[in-house]
Amino acid sequence: MATERTLSIIKPDATRRNLTGKINAKFEEAGLRIIAQKRIQLTKAQAGEFYAVHKERPFYDELCEFMASAPVVVQVLEGEGAIAKNREVMGATNPADAAPGTIRAEFAESVGENSVHGSDAPETAAEEISFYFSGLEIVG
Ligand code: ATP
Ligand code: MG
Repeated sequence: MATERTLSIIKPDATRRNLTGKINAKFEEAGLRIIAQKRIQLTKAQAGEFYAVHKERPFYDELCEFMASAPVVVQVLEGEGAIAKNREVMGATNPADAAPGTIRAEFAESVGENSVHGSDAPETAAEEISFYFSGLEIVG
């Protein structure tokens, strides 16, 4: 398994509840390294651009409102098979289906307000990392 990079977002429901450190501990315990990180406030338009792939979904407007409702922490995680490993640590989209010990099982409030985002494939990871970070900001 190769070393990969993936884009992670600690979402507004989690930053609001001061959970950044607890969530980062889960990543680090799983062997993922946080090689870039910043706390930013998205506008609704920026959230809409990031989640454009979901434009036709019924929850799109609600998702964009939510992502712009408070600061988020965007991160690049690096490690062996980081994309799949991060999604394992995150747990299922709906916290009701998330395995015990995962971030969403422990912290998510609902299927929409589910504490974290993680890229789902190498192509989307590369696109999503460059959406938020320049090469100069990533020090592996
Ligand atoms: P993410 O892309 O945020 O890592 P995911 O890949 O597990 O999550 P997606 O299907 O890509 O899930 O959905 C993107 C996000 O849209 C979800 O994380 C959640 O915040 C929101 N979402 C998904 N399904 C619903 C729904 N039924 N109702 C409200 N919000 C939803
Ligand atoms: Mg997704």
